Amino acid sequence: MDDYFQKYLSEVEWLFQEDKYDPSLQPINESLFALGNGYIGSRGIYEEASVNSTPGTFFAGIFDHAASKVAELINAPNLFHFSVISKNNKLTLEDANFVTNQRTLDLKKGLLSRQTVFKMAQGNRIDYQSMRFLSSHNLNLAAMQVVLTPLDVSEEFTIDASINISIKNKGIILEKDVQTFNIFDVEKKDGLHYLSVESLDCQNEIGYAQQLFLTVDGEPRSISETNIFDIHLSKGQTAIITRIITFDTAGNTADRQKLKSTTITTLQNAIKKGFNQLLTDHIQIFEKKWVNFDIQIVGDTDIQSVLRFNLYHLLIAAHPEVKDVSIGAKLLTGEGYKGHSFWETELLFVPSALFYDPLIARHLLEYRFKRLPAALELAHKRGFKGALFPWESAESGKDETPPWSEDLDATLKIVHTGKQSLHINVAIFYAIYHYFFATDDIEFMLQMGLTLSIQMARFWKSKAVYNKQHDLYKIKEVMGPDEFHDNVNNNAYTNKLVSWSLEKTLELIELFLSEYPTETTKILKDNKFYAKEKQKLIKISHRLHFPAHEKIILQFDDFLSLKNVRLPNLDVFGLPTFPPDLLLIDLNKTQLIKQADVVLLLFLLPTLFDRKTAESNFHFYDARSLHKSSWSAPIYAGVASQLNFDEKAYRYFNISLNTDKKNIFGNTHLGMHMPGVAGSWVALVYGFCGIRIEERQLSINPQLPPNLHNVSLQFAYLDFNFHVSITQETIKLQIMHADRAWLTLQPLRTPKQQARVQIGVNSMDLVPNKEYIIKYRTLDAGHLPHSGGEVR
Ligand code: BGC
Repeated sequence: MDDYFQKYLSEVEWLFQEDKYDPSLQPINESLFALGNGYIGSRGIYEEASVNSTPGTFFAGIFDHAASKVAELINAPNLFHFSVISKNNKLTLEDANFVTNQRTLDLKKGLLSRQTVFKMAQGNRIDYQSMRFLSSHNLNLAAMQVVLTPLDVSEEFTIDASINISIKNKGIILEKDVQTFNIFDVEKKDGLHYLSVESLDCQNEIGYAQQLFLTVDGEPRSISETNIFDIHLSKGQTAIITRIITFDTAGNTADRQKLKSTTITTLQNAIKKGFNQLLTDHIQIFEKKWVNFDIQIVGDTDIQSVLRFNLYHLLIAAHPEVKDVSIGAKLLTGEGYKGHSFWETELLFVPSALFYDPLIARHLLEYRFKRLPAALELAHKRGFKGALFPWESAESGKDETPPWSEDLDATLKIVHTGKQSLHINVAIFYAIYHYFFATDDIEFMLQMGLTLSIQMARFWKSKAVYNKQHDLYKIKEVMGPDEFHDNVNNNAYTNKLVSWSLEKTLELIELFLSEYPTETTKILKDNKFYAKEKQKLIKISHRLHFPAHEKIILQFDDFLSLKNVRLPNLDVFGLPTFPPDLLLIDLNKTQLIKQADVVLLLFLLPTLFDRKTAESNFHFYDARSLHKSSWSAPIYAGVASQLNFDEKAYRYFNISLNTDKKNIFGNTHLGMHMPGVAGSWVALVYGFCGIRIEERQLSINPQLPPNLHNVSLQFAYLDFNFHVSITQETIKLQIMHADRAWLTLQPLRTPKQQARVQIGVNSMDLVPNKEYIIKYRTLDAGHLPHSGGEVR
C-alpha cells in the first residue's frame, strides 16, 4: 500500500523520523514528536497507546492543585486516542506484531504521520496509516485521518475513536498518579459528540467536541451514533476515518454554557470547511512561521537538521494570540516540573520570541505584570519590601516551588530554590530592559515595565544589608544559578546583576522622565518612589559586594575554601562524569558546580568584563562544571564562541542542540528542555552570530566557528525586519519595514525610519530596502568589550 500521506509531506530535510519501534524509547519519543500551537500541546503517542506510553494533552495555563502539593498542569483527556480491534485483538505495536513501522514529524508543516503494517496472529496483514495536526490557523482545532486497508483477507474492525478520559497526572516520589478532572458534561447529537471535564480543585473546565466521518474506497458511509463502531472491509478495500475535534477552556468562570456553544459552533464551522481545507489553512500558517524563524546554516548539515528540530519546538510553544500564560520549563510537551515556569522563560525563551514576534515576548512580560500583586505579597510574606517573583510559577503567580523533589540519584531532596533563588527577579528585569530597547514599546513601559522594575528594585533594596566595616552592601542566604550550593552569601552572579539592574532601572526612569514627564511622574507617585529611595538604590548599586580573587570572580564568598575536585573523564556526550568516590551529600563541600553561574554572568553582561577576565573565569569554571542542567552547555557555547575557543564552542553547542534528541540528561520522557531548546537559539544568535541588544542598541559581532560557513536568519528589531547573512568574512544586511500594527499605533510613539546598529566599533544607520555588505574580521576581544571590526 502506498504511503497515503506522503503527498502532504515536505522535503526530506524537514522530516524528523522514527524508523524502528523500540518500546523503551517511546516515553522519550513522545516528547520529541509532540505537536503544539501555543495554546495546546500533545505528546507524540502512538494513537492506540503502545506499551510505556504516557499520553499528554496540555492546555496553556490550565492547572489544578487537587492531587499535588503545588499546582500542576492538568493532563487533559487525550483527543488523539484511536484504536482498532480485529477479531478481539487490538492493533498494537507490542509483541512485534508488525511488519513495518515508520512515523514522521514534518517540522515545516507541523504534521505527525505514521505508516504501520500490522501482522495479526493468523498471518493476515493490515495497513494502518494516520496523520494528525493541531491547527495553527485555528488554535481550538485539531484533525486526524486514519487510513485502514486489510491486505490479505476481509476484516471486521471495531474502531474506538473516543476522546480518552482515562488519563492521570503522574505523581512524583511521594505522590500518587491521579486523574485531575471529573466529567462534567457529555452529549451526543446528530453525530456530534460533546464532552467536558472539570478539574477537581480549581474547577477549570475544558470542553471538546468531535465528529467522525467515514469513506470506504472513496464512498461516504454513515457511522453509528457512538464513537465506537464497526466496519467491514473486503481484502484491499480502504477505509478513511476523518476526525475533526475542537476544544476550548473556560478556566473557572461560570460561563459553561458559552464554552459548550463556542466549542460546538467552532466544530460545525470546521466541518463545513472539511479536512482538506483545514489542513491547507494550518499548513499555510505553519510554513509562514518558518519564513521569519528559520536559521539556515551552510557547512554542517547535521547541525542544520538538529537546529531545525529545536526551532520547531520553539515555534509550537507559543502563539501571539495566547495571553496571560507563561511557558513552562518543559514547554507543552510533558509533565516535568508540573508545567511550571522558571527564569529560563525570560532569559532564554523571550530573546527568541523577541526576535521572531515581539508580541509573544510582550505577552510573557504581561503575564508577570498581572501577577505583580502576588509578587508583592510574596516579598511581604518573606519580610521584604517590593516585589519578589516566585522561582516556580503557574496560573496564580503564587510560589509553586515544591518543598522536595527527586535528587540526581532519584532519592528525596529538600528543595531550596523556592526560598533562595531570588535571582529570578533580575531575569525578569533583564527581559524587560532588552524588550524595551528591541521594540521601543513605550506603552508597555508606562503601563507595566517601569512599575515592575521599581518594585523589583525595591525588593533588592530591602534584601541588601549594609556592612559598615567594609562599607559595602551584601546579599546573604541565596542560591545562585548553580544549585549544588545553597544558602551562600554574595553570589557574584546575583550581586552583579542586581547592581546592573538597579543602575538600569534608574536610567530608565531618567529617560522616561525626560521624554514622558507627566506619565512617568504619575508612575513614580503611584509607586511612592521618591528621591530618598533613588539615592539608596544608587548607593547599593555602587557598593554591592562583588567577590573576586585576582582575576577570578568568586562564585560566592569563601568559594575558594571549598575542596577542588578534578573532573578527568568525559562521557559519550562530551560531558564530565560524576566523580565516582564523591557522595551527593558532599557536593556542596566541593567547588563542583551544577551549571553556568559566573559564566552566565559573562554571557549576559559581556561588556562589563575584559577579555583576560572572561578567559580566566571561563577556564576556571569550565574545569569545575558538571553541566547537570540543560542550561549549562548553551551558555558555555555562547561564551566560548565569543572568546574564539572554537572547538569548545562547537562541542558545547552540539551538546545543547542534542539535549533532547540524544536524551542527554536521561529525562526527556518528562518533556523537552526549554533551556536546551531556547538556549541553543541563544548560543547561536547571541554567541556565534553575536547579534544582541547591547548598550541600548542592536549590535552584530559574529564569531563563526570554522565549520559554519554561512548563517542566515531574519529577525524583528524596532520597526523593521532584518535579513542577515553571515559568512566567515562578511555580514550581508538588509532591513524592511515591518508590519507591527500593535506597536506602530501607540499614541506616544513615532515609528523609526532607520535603525542604528553597532558593528564592531562602528555604528551604522541602516535604511530600509538597501543591501549592506560589511567586511568584518574576528575581533581580538570578542565582544568583551567591542574593539576592531572594519566597516565598508
Ligand atoms: C536548573 C534550573 C532550571 C530548572 C528548570 C533546574 O535543573 O538548575 O536552572 O530553571 O531546572 O528547567
